[in-house]
Amino acid sequence: MKTLIKNGTIITGESSFPGDVLIENGRIVAIQQGLAAPDANIYDAAGCRLFPGFIDAHTHLDMDAGTTVTADNFQTGTAAAIAGGTTTIIDFATQDKGGTLTAALETWMEKAKGLSACDYGFHLAITDWTPAVAREIPELAAAGVTSFKVYLAYDHLRVGDGEIYDILRQVNQVQGILGAHCENGDIINRLTDSLLRQGKKSPCFHPQSRPDLAEAEAISRLTYIGQMAEAPVHIVHLSSQAGLAAALHARQRGGEIYIESCPQYFILDDSSYSLPDFAGGKFVCSPPLRAKPSQAALWEALGQGSIDSISTDHCSFNWKGQKELGRHDFSKIPNGLPGIEHRPALMYSYGVATGRISENQLVASLSENTARLFGLYPRKGKIALGSDGDIVVWDPNTQGTITATYQLQNVDYTPYEGYMIQGSAKAVFLRGSLASENGKVLITDKGKYLPRHGCDYFRRKTE
Ligand SMILES: [Zn+2]
Repeated sequence: MKTLIKNGTIITGESSFPGDVLIENGRIVAIQQGLAAPDANIYDAAGCRLFPGFIDAHTHLDMDAGTTVTADNFQTGTAAAIAGGTTTIIDFATQDKGGTLTAALETWMEKAKGLSACDYGFHLAITDWTPAVAREIPELAAAGVTSFKVYLAYDHLRVGDGEIYDILRQVNQVQGILGAHCENGDIINRLTDSLLRQGKKSPCFHPQSRPDLAEAEAISRLTYIGQMAEAPVHIVHLSSQAGLAAALHARQRGGEIYIESCPQYFILDDSSYSLPDFAGGKFVCSPPLRAKPSQAALWEALGQGSIDSISTDHCSFNWKGQKELGRHDFSKIPNGLPGIEHRPALMYSYGVATGRISENQLVASLSENTARLFGLYPRKGKIALGSDGDIVVWDPNTQGTITATYQLQNVDYTPYEGYMIQGSAKAVFLRGSLASENGKVLITDKGKYLPRHGCDYFRRKTE
């Protein structure tokens, strides 16, 4: 099967240029102006940008949060993803206490099997570090899992500093990367207990229980441990100006630090937690949304290239019946926001269209850098000869409004209700097949599992 996308402007992380793209058997085989292929399906992209398929490396689909299971599974979550322009996700498979990493991977492979509309891979979240688990790391890397995660918060998930050191050493040996949820769990427990004892139980107290300094401390600690272990570290969902300062300080002293953030930390702020009638509960995620100065600091850092990637931390729970589990105690609200569908449009609208970042920076942070860090480049992350034909035909001129009424995410609200959007994914190709058009998903189950090679430590070369 051949597909020819004509008359668009190709955008990479470095440059923008006019060109037609010919895809054959899923791979890009020619890029130049005025291409002809009489036997190909032709798509006219005149007036549109051609972005490499976007990658969301932080999703939680079909995840059991203990009291309830996420509203989106692999079927609904990936359909929403591809409609918005995301052609690859990397979800988290989490080790059970006492279980193996391999068993966790098998469990999540089963959850996704035959259901995914986009290509997918898994990071392995390590919750129980033993010598046997250490021996699994090279086996998993050989099998194509090269990224791992630890939590510095959440009592049922977190590991200690010594374990983080050991995990970093082991992961580094296989050219992998360790991501970390950076918040100080002990401090959060004390602040939460104190607030609840004072009867402060509504969602507006959620951010007080998880202050930005708890993030900054954990980032600082992680980065020092990383330097002592002589290993790179990846900070996931960076949320605050204080956390950013800790991460940039670590880079200044020579740490190899990769930074991910998410649209909610650029666009939303902590005033939402004070909305009446438990509407604040819709916005409970961890780390929490921050005060306004953090948003400006994150935009500036993204514009300067200091933040490497933007993913979503998509972890959807319905407001009715799920978020409501914590109506009378904010600490019982399942943590997480939906966002897998709207990330490209949000970052285009509030980043590119406002002049805060360039189209090239959009591509770098939503696709290319992510592909490089997680061992998918250049198969993913770039419109280039030999790469997969994952292409987003982006119409920069459409205008719309985000609303839960018309979203594909299987959840009863969106934190971006009523937000204006500039630009949209007009057509999305997955390995050369037209997978979605104008927000309608045409192919629902052709996503493939992606074994990944070692990480491309691109910061090592540039700093
Ligand atoms: Zn997460």
